[in-house]
Amino acid sequence: MTNKRYQTLRLILGDQLNASHSWFQHQQKDVLYVMMEVAQETNYVRHHRQKVLAFFAAMRNFAKALTSKGFDVHYLRLDDEQNTGSITDNLAALLARYPDAQLQCQLPDEYRLDHQLRSWAGAENITIEWFDSEHFLTQRNCLDKIFKSDDSLLMETFYRHMRRRLGILMDGDKPLGGKWNFDADNRKKLPKNVTVPEPLCFANDVSDIDTMLSNCGIATLGNAQPQRLLWPTSRAQARQLLSYFCQHLLPYFGTYQDAMALPEQHQHAWSLFHSRLSFALNSKMLSPLEVVTNVVEHWQQRPDEIELNQVEGFVRQIIGWREYVRGIYWRFMPNYKNQNQLQHQRDLPGFYWDADTHMNCVRQAVQQSLDYAYAHHIQRLMITGNFALLAGVNPDHVDAWYLGIYIDAIEWVELPNTRGMSQYADGGILATKPYVASANYVHKMSHYCSDCYYQHNQKTGDKACPFNSLYWHFIDRHQQAFAQNQRMSMMYSVWHKKTPSEREQILQQAQRYLDNMNTL
Ligand code: FAD
Ligand code: SF4
Repeated sequence: MTNKRYQTLRLILGDQLNASHSWFQHQQKDVLYVMMEVAQETNYVRHHRQKVLAFFAAMRNFAKALTSKGFDVHYLRLDDEQNTGSITDNLAALLARYPDAQLQCQLPDEYRLDHQLRSWAGAENITIEWFDSEHFLTQRNCLDKIFKSDDSLLMETFYRHMRRRLGILMDGDKPLGGKWNFDADNRKKLPKNVTVPEPLCFANDVSDIDTMLSNCGIATLGNAQPQRLLWPTSRAQARQLLSYFCQHLLPYFGTYQDAMALPEQHQHAWSLFHSRLSFALNSKMLSPLEVVTNVVEHWQQRPDEIELNQVEGFVRQIIGWREYVRGIYWRFMPNYKNQNQLQHQRDLPGFYWDADTHMNCVRQAVQQSLDYAYAHHIQRLMITGNFALLAGVNPDHVDAWYLGIYIDAIEWVELPNTRGMSQYADGGILATKPYVASANYVHKMSHYCSDCYYQHNQKTGDKACPFNSLYWHFIDRHQQAFAQNQRMSMMYSVWHKKTPSEREQILQQAQRYLDNMNTL
């Protein structure tokens, strides 16, 4: 850093790597850009090693790109002597050094950081000039404008509003193809004869960062190959991943969106037809608009190869779900983080950390998460999330696991998905019914059951699949919460048609499993 006197300090957080931001469109002599690797961020939860490596590598590349364009960047490495480990303490030190400087920040996406910066500034009498991060398609309070009350915050309503507002896949005021949603054509099990392209993996050498993490004693989880980090760590790589998706994966994205890999494919096709763009998006190396625009353009150029249902399924995830969960987060934080509507209190079983379980579906999903810091949506929702919900695990523990293990996990998107969609801890704000399923579903959508120690078609007995009795235990113990829910009425009628002794045996089986959860 030079001895210049800066008039402005601009903080760039680790997930604000948006090269198109207006901050970077013109060089300004008196501006110092500030980036920092801080212990408060590596330690607020135990993260996957690949996640910390990928964020720091992407931040360093971003800083390098800014410097090469002539911007002044003050980059604090985790092991820099002046680094206090705290964002606000580091900022205070810089402001002491440049007493005339005005502090500018982009709005953080996490409540935690927003609160930290605002309360520090308030206490220290520092004025922060706030800027939008210029990434999202909506504002934090977008749901207030679309929904009058909290009673029916339907994603589908939000999604249609976004399609109309952005004019994406529209024919005038009507949805292209006559339907808003092509789910009926999607959600197929993966047949054995479909070849899944290998995921595009980079080989970024981040061993210097890895050594630094070890020297600084940063505790992480999961496996990593620091000489070959597979995640994109620059905008150029993020763009490559996007074009690989459009070229090779988009033609089947919708059809196999809910499928799970065949056992023999786990080694080379662990992400199936999913884009794996979430890290590039959440770090803001890619913008959501550029992603959907590229996808729609590819479809327009190759109409014979790519059907509308594939494209619509993908567009819905980005302009629908992604923006919607952010709206939910900002509408309900900070209380959302403490919701535990179903009063679940059990500990997360140990096999979530080491994949040591006889349940093949859980073993595969957890092992894959440990190896790649990635599992696709259905593994997160219907395998690990479903099991935790059936077993009545405390949502605080479930949140901490999801927030740590996934490459894309940042609280604004992790929390509504985990606590809301997956654990129903928000009492139905985000999902109209709990996402619970027995082995029937897993067997229908995957090939896990045929290779499992447990029998997917048994509810009781030594080898009965735990998902089955736990499913009915969940239904039984939450009768009061769900018996009136129209979407659950069929489950309750099936449960009540069973004889009292059958019900008793199932509940006893579930209780045995719950009492010995770590041995399953
Ligand atoms: P694709 O299947 O290719 O989808 C494309 C993009 O759509 C994703 O990159 C993502 O940006 C967006 N998207 C899809 N579904 C969702 C969704 N439900 N919410 C928000 N965006 C979505 N996503 C995260 O980015 N971070 C998280 O921490 C996270 N935690 C989750 C926890 C649980 C329990 C569940 C059920 C889902 C979670 N998701 C999270 C949503 C989703 O699973 C991931 O976005 C997706 O698996 C990322 O892989 P992909 O890029 O290959 O996605
Ligand atoms: Fe999972 Fe049960 Fe199927 Fe085994 S039998 S893979 S535990 S659903």
